[in-house]
Amino acid sequence: MIDYEVSRNRMVNEQLKSRGIHDERVLTAMGIVPRHLFVDQAFWPRAYEDHPLPINQNQTISQPYIVALMSQALELNGGEKVLEIGTGSGYQAAILAVLGCDVYTIERHKELSKKAEKLIKKIKIKNIHFKVGDGSMGWVEEAPFNRIIVTAGAPEIPGELMNQLSPGGRIVIPVGNLATQRLMIVIKGEKVIEKHDVCGCSFVPLLGDKGWSND
Ligand code: SAH
Repeated sequence: MIDYEVSRNRMVNEQLKSRGIHDERVLTAMGIVPRHLFVDQAFWPRAYEDHPLPINQNQTISQPYIVALMSQALELNGGEKVLEIGTGSGYQAAILAVLGCDVYTIERHKELSKKAEKLIKKIKIKNIHFKVGDGSMGWVEEAPFNRIIVTAGAPEIPGELMNQLSPGGRIVIPVGNLATQRLMIVIKGEKVIEKHDVCGCSFVPLLGDKGWSND
């Protein structure tokens, strides 16, 4: 029998702390959420390893380090209203909810969204709202958001997302081509928009109106 709590603690120490994840709340959340439940049972033994894993519909759950890095980059204190584009397995949304956020998450594949919603309910994580649709246009009925996280690679920063961000808010988004992107932090200041380049990364594509074309 694998002791998943031991695997999780090892992941936090060896993959996150040692690589500069210093936000204690993020480290605690990553140590709490049972990542293995977000992948198929066949992958449970590998769920805490240092890489992404396949989920259904040819999509992936991001590497633990990337989830932690993006969560830390959001600079959360708890209580923020956060929009996530790309629910996937629901793991990143779970981390954000455990960080005390009110999470609005959009996924274009209905099957993934429903599966994630069912699991989140089962493990009793609260404050996540699910929607099936094209997240590249944001979620206008629920805007504005204090934070926006895009977990699929975008060709550019969608203007709709900037419009749906509160003043002082920030977007964390991978921007680039279909193969590789730069992880960017965009801060909506009162007068200027600041952009910071965090690192290189490789996400599955953001498809849709303001993403890559679907054909
Ligand atoms: N955050 C996820 C990983 C997401 S993988 C997790 O923690 O598991 C990226 C996801 O974005 C995929 O599930 C893909 O279907 C979805 N996606 C791509 N383009 C999208 C769009 N325009 N709107 C909503 N979801 C999208």
